[in-house]
Formats: sequence, structure tokens, C-alpha cells
Amino acid sequence: MSQSLQEKDIHYQLHPYTNARLHQEQGPLIIERGEGVYVYDDQGKDYIEGMSGLWSAALGFSNQRLIRAAQQQLETLPFYHLFSHKAHRPSIELAEKLIQMAPVPMSKVFFTNSGSEANDTVVKLVWFRNHALGKPEKNKFIARTNAYHGITVASASLTGLPANHRGFGLPLPGFLHVGCPHHYRYALPGESEEQFADRLAAELEQTILAEGPETIAAFIGEPLMGAGGVIVPPRTYWAKVQQVCRKYDILVIADEVICGFGRTGQMFGSQTFGIQPDIMVVSKQLSSSYQPIAAVLINDAVYQPIEAQSGSLGTLGHGFTASGHPVAAAVSLENLKIIEEDNLVAHAAAMGERMHAALRRFTDHPLVGEVRGCGLIAAVELVGDKDSKAPYQTTGTLGRYLAGRAQQHGLITRAMGDAIAFCPPLIIDEQEMDLLLERFERALDDTAQWAK
Ligand code: PMP
Repeated sequence: MSQSLQEKDIHYQLHPYTNARLHQEQGPLIIERGEGVYVYDDQGKDYIEGMSGLWSAALGFSNQRLIRAAQQQLETLPFYHLFSHKAHRPSIELAEKLIQMAPVPMSKVFFTNSGSEANDTVVKLVWFRNHALGKPEKNKFIARTNAYHGITVASASLTGLPANHRGFGLPLPGFLHVGCPHHYRYALPGESEEQFADRLAAELEQTILAEGPETIAAFIGEPLMGAGGVIVPPRTYWAKVQQVCRKYDILVIADEVICGFGRTGQMFGSQTFGIQPDIMVVSKQLSSSYQPIAAVLINDAVYQPIEAQSGSLGTLGHGFTASGHPVAAAVSLENLKIIEEDNLVAHAAAMGERMHAALRRFTDHPLVGEVRGCGLIAAVELVGDKDSKAPYQTTGTLGRYLAGRAQQHGLITRAMGDAIAFCPPLIIDEQEMDLLLERFERALDDTAQWAK
């Protein structure tokens, strides 16, 4: 008898971000097709994609304009590269578009295939720049615990999650982590949001002084932390952090891989949170993930030394075969056009309001510790005991159970520990949002019943 698709998957694939042993036992959920905010499995069952896949399918799963843009580009020029003074129209136009859209003056765009590669590129461009400035020792990066910046060697070192370090011997030396701006979890008893932000800024400054400011190159952060649990920082956090960075000539990097292109209710998270980055990283909603692509935007202060350096070093020894891939760039251009033409940023803000209003109703639920978010991204954090904020049994027990029940009820969410994330496509309409919330409520009821 021939093997089923499930059996072949177990037999042949090593899955990213999956427990290999558990996968052998339970096998995959095979998703066969998508339509709007829905995906369908191989049995025809529908799921609302409450996570936009991986925080990325802004336009849902069947946008015909994106498909046509890809097809047209495949027919015209399916591949070309940007090495050694070559270029092509889609990458040029996309670079121009990103510079025009950027919330602060930016100078140049460097394309990669993934957010991880983009953050590795950031590290190398900053190192290259500081070498050019005659300050090679100014090479350390400061990130935050619970940050997510990717999984390649440098980006995983920026990431501040134990699972990305454990078993890999990471982070590399010179990658430091300061406190996570999550008031609910990390504030001292009685500490206000503003006092908490002050304390985090002071901690950052102490870290810089202890290491020596002449050794710190850059500070990187997601405007709102995504994979670490959808963590919204205190209102003045970013202003305070930036003030410290400027004082010690430390570059500010905004990792907009999740926040970019409308997710927080404005075009960029940097606008929502008042960040003036020297470097910005975008991906995911750039192409709605119909094609793999990411981009690093650098300002003139970063670019000028790199240009000057090529006088002595020659070529910039960095780049990917598929940097600025024409099909990915063409799809991204069309994707950005649709986001603008259809006013999807304002739409996301309105749908976000609806989502937060509904989720806030669960604040009184015995298992809900915190409801948080901003724009069209949110998390509901489950606890076993609301007073002590302790988990039920072990961290992740409730989260895993609820995500499993939600899947049964036709909703794909993601449990990050016990925080259940919501990040639906920007195109979601009111009825779909209400159905998403209804399916979540059923899963929450099941979880409460189970935990009794
Ligand atoms: N930065 C952030 C903020 C992310 O959320 C992610 C992916 N979730 C990355 C970087 C890494 O992107 P990729 O998975 O494309 O390498």
C-alpha cells in the first residue's frame, strides 16, 4: 500500500520549530488551500487563520492581483541578481517605494530573503561601517530578553528566547540582553508603567557604562514584541531608550518584521511608538509572504561610511543569490499598492478596535491574566492563579490545550507559552472577526472546563 501524505511527511521532513519526537507521534496538519482569511486542510475543514500564517499574510490567502504580479514577472524575467552592478526594474522600484514610505529619512535599501538574513545583514553592515569609521571595537549589540530577531547565527544571538540559544551555544559573545518591557510580568510591586520604563532605561545605561560605550554599536528592538508574547511597551519606553542610545552614539534599529505595513494601526510600528530608527528591517507583510523577501533600510549616517570604505576595501563582501529577487520584488510592489489603495492600515486599526473591545471582556475570566495588544495584534495571557500570575501546572500547559481546542473549532492561533496570539490578515471583515472571537471563546470555555 502506498504511504499517505501524513506518513511521508513524518518519514521525510524535519520540521522547523517542531518537537521532532512529538511529530513522529501526532503527524502534521496538512493545509491544502487558502481563500481570504481561511485555510482548508486535506479533509476540507476550514480554519480562520488567526495568525496570518506566521504574522505575515496581510492580504489573506488568495489575492489574485499578487498571483498575477508573480506570473507576469515570471514571464518577463523570472530571475536576475544584483551583484556586480546589475539591477532590474522590480528591485529598483521597490527600493524607491520603501524609501518613500519610510517614516524617517532613509538612504539605501539592501534586500534579503528572510527576516533572519536581514538581521544578520544588519549586524554585518554595522560592523563594516564601524570598521570604516576606524572603530572596530564598537561592535557589540544590545537586544532584550524575549526579543525575536530570527534564527541564523547572528540574528539568533540577538533573539532573547531560551529555545533559540539552548543547544546551540548561543548567543555569540558581544550580544547582550537587557530587560523586557512587559509591565504585567516584570514590574516591581507598585511600580507604575512610567517608573518601570525609567528603570529599564537606567538598566540600559548601566549596561552600556559597564561594557564601555566605545564597545556598543547598536540597540535593536521590535517596536512591539511579537513572538516573545505580543508585548506592548510602556508609553514612554522608546523615547527613554532612544535618549540613552543617542547619548552614547549607539545606533537604534527597529525590527519591523511583524509591525511593518499596518499591523499596529499605523503604517510602521516606529510611528505608533515614536521611534526614529537609523536602521529598519521589514519582511512578512511586505509581500504578504506570497514570496520570501525582507529588506534592510539604512540612513545616511550608516551608509556614508560604507560607501567611503569601498575606496580602500573595494567590493562590499555581502549579498545573497536571491537578494531583491524580481518575482518577490514585483509581488511586494503590488502588495504595497493594494495596502495603500484599499486603505488597509485604517481598516486594520478599526478591526483592531473591534478585536480589543471583544477581548477585553475576557479580563474577568478566571483563567485570563492579561489582555494586551495594539492595532490588529493582540494576546490573551492565561494563568492558573490571577493573584500570583503563576501558570496552571507548568508554563505552556493551558496555552497548548487552548490552541489545540481552537484548532478543533476551526481557528488557528499560536500559544507562546500561555499567551494566545491574535494576528489575523489585515483584510479581515467584521463578520470574520466576530467568528474568530466566537471560536476563541469556545476554546476558552473548553479550557476552563478541562482545568477544573
Ligand atoms: N524579526 C522579527 C520581529 C520576527 O518576528 C521574525 C520572524 N517571526 C524575524 C525577525 C525572522 O524572520 P524569518 O523567519 O523570515 O527569518
